[in-house]
Formats: sequence, structure tokens, C-alpha cells
Amino acid sequence: MTSKEYIDMAEKYLVHTYNKFKIVLEKGDGVHLYDVDGKEYLDFASGIAVFALGYNNKEFNDAIKNQVDKLIHTSNLFYNEPASIAAKKVVDVTGLKKVFFTNSGTEAIEGAIKMAKKYAYIRDGHTDHEIIAMEHSFHGRSLGALAVTGTKKYREPFEPMGGVVRFATYNDIDSVKKLINDKTCAIILETVQGEGGIYPAEESFIKEIRKICDEKDIVMICDEIQCGMGRTGTMLAYEQYGIKPDIVTMAKALGCGIPVGAFVAGEKTCESLVPGDHGTTYGGNPLATAAVSTVFDIFEKSDILENVVEVSAYFEEQLDKIVEDFDNVTARRGKGLMQGLVLTTPPSETINKCLENGLIVISAGSDVLRMVPPLVITKHDVDEMIRILRIALA
Ligand SMILES: *Cc1c(COP(=O)(O)O)cnc(C)c1O
Repeated sequence: MTSKEYIDMAEKYLVHTYNKFKIVLEKGDGVHLYDVDGKEYLDFASGIAVFALGYNNKEFNDAIKNQVDKLIHTSNLFYNEPASIAAKKVVDVTGLKKVFFTNSGTEAIEGAIKMAKKYAYIRDGHTDHEIIAMEHSFHGRSLGALAVTGTKKYREPFEPMGGVVRFATYNDIDSVKKLINDKTCAIILETVQGEGGIYPAEESFIKEIRKICDEKDIVMICDEIQCGMGRTGTMLAYEQYGIKPDIVTMAKALGCGIPVGAFVAGEKTCESLVPGDHGTTYGGNPLATAAVSTVFDIFEKSDILENVVEVSAYFEEQLDKIVEDFDNVTARRGKGLMQGLVLTTPPSETINKCLENGLIVISAGSDVLRMVPPLVITKHDVDEMIRILRIALA
């Protein structure tokens, strides 16, 4: 079949919820992807901040293949080896107490919200608790996760959704304080906003939220589904702010392409969900947790964080030069290997020109070009990306 035939077939049979780029990807190797016609692309999107290890990592692939031959699924009615091992690794990395594995980021958000609500319910017996979320936030597409997603266009057609959610302005602590009342049970925020346009939290903002949550016994939830797993130079971005949330949500690079998410809870809330409160058929199955465990092993062995710190300094420098050199690029925002360029022209135009020239980048918000490459990129890859980006922007 030709790539046009695959595209036509997909458009005929798949629900049209995405305006896809007209490329049929076939395989990947390292930081490169290849389409069915053999064209090579340098990948600065990694499947939306997922494939941290780069494609076709032998150790990762072998671990998954071994697990496939051993045991793929058991349900959570039984214990399995990979889940126990991965759970310890996730808990150790987050500095929290207990983890619940899910199949996606969205489900991690659902679970985190349920845990926060249950915590508040145990405390005061009320069922009318409120959540504070942030404008321009993105937490997922299910009704619960959508309810705390601050971008109106994602949420509005599906309203009303369960529970009261109030939206504060990101990085504006007074806007948060104004919304707090006796019913507030949780404050949820991305440590670095991704989908909304790559906005890192300011240190004072995060620290104040931590303080308020301690004082008022509110559950602080950091969504690190996109910015976690080393992307900003530390395993969790909140490490750089000197705080720990009560619950952190993870997914995306957690399984490096094997669908898996997690919500991880500290002392305060980790015992509030009990048998009967929550569950999943697939979540934490041996295949998914073998992937998680292997991701952590490879991260450690390859000193991936060191690479992120080193390359991202160079990456930022080069992007700042682009901001200086092009009138249609007005700013750079980001942390580590999660970077955005603010454009005065529609990002899709630049993205399509990059694709023509063999570079994959994506957008965030309405005016941001988003770059979330595999965490194994080198300075040479940055140079190549910049070369193509300059052609595309010119
Ligand atoms: C991607 C994302 C989600 C949703 O994760 P899915 O795996 O798509 O359900 C939630 N929060 C943030 C910050 C994300 O980037």
C-alpha cells in the first residue's frame, strides 16, 4: 500500500479527532523516525514527550520482549514481579510513599482527584469539596480530568462536569488565595505547563502553594505527566523548587511508549483510598511495569539526567539566538528539554516547513512551537534542528 492509501484508510475508519500531518511513520532509530517512503526525520517531539530513550533502544526492547514471553497480564487480583519492582522505583524517585499504576496520564489525574476528595471526605464527612486548577492547564480528556483542564475549548462542549472546579491564574498567587474557602480540598497544577504553551512555574508561586496547602490541609497535586521523568533536568521538576507535592501524576515517558501512568502519594493521602475505592483491570500489568522498571534502569545507567542538563544549556542558547535573529519569533520559554518558541505566525506553517525539511516539531497553545525531544539528543542533533528551523522560519 502507498502512504496515500494508508492515510485515506485512516480517514475513512478512524473518528476524526486529529488533523494529522500527512506522513505515515514506519520505524524509528535513535532520534530519527522514518516514514513508509523511507524519508528520515529528526524527531524533536518524541511522540509528545514520551520516547525519552530514543527509538529502537535494544535494552528496552529486549526487556519488553522477555516480559511478553513470560507474562503480559494478570489483573490486580494477584501480585506480579514487575509491578512490585517498578512500584519501589517510582516511590524512591518521587520521594513519596505509595503508587497506583494506571494506563494513561488521564487516568492518573482521575485517581489523584479521587484520592484528594476521599482524603477530605474522611476528614470532614462532607461531599461538596472544591478543587482549584489553573487557567491554560491541561490534565486530560476524560470528564474528570477535563473538569480541571483550564483551556476552555477542550472543556466547554462537555459541561457541566461533576464537582466544583475554580480556575486561578498560573503564577499569580493572589488569584489562588481568592478562590480558597473551607470546601477547597485540592490545588492541582502542572509544575511546567505543557499543552497550554510551555510556562514554567515561578519558584515563589509553587512554594506559596505548598505553604497554603500545609496550613489549610489542602492536597497539593503536581501534574508531571509531561515535565517529569527527567525532562527538565531532574527526575521530577518539583525537585528544582525545593518542595514535594502530596500527590504527583506521571505518564508519557514513564513507560517510553508502553501505555502506563501513575499517581504517587505521600504520607498525607496515601492511605485514604482503600479496597473498593478505586481499581483498574490493566493498570500496573506486568508488561507495563516491566517497561517502567527498565526505563528507570536505563536512565540510571546512561546518566541521562546529566545529558539533559548539558544539552539543554546549549539548546537554550541556540534557541535564544533564533529569538534574536527572527522577527517572527518573540520569546523562548521552557525548562531543560521542554522548550517553546513564541511565534507571531501560525505554528502549523512552521511545523509543515520543518516536516518538508525532515524535522518533527509540534505546537502548544495557539502560538507556541514546542520542542520535547528524546532525552538522549546530542549537541549535534541540536545543531541539525536549528539548521532546519532557520530554513523553516526564513
Ligand atoms: C499528556 C498530558 C496528560 C494526559 O495524558 P494522557 O496519557 O494523554 O491521558 C495530562 N497532563 C499533562 C500535563 C499532559 O501533558
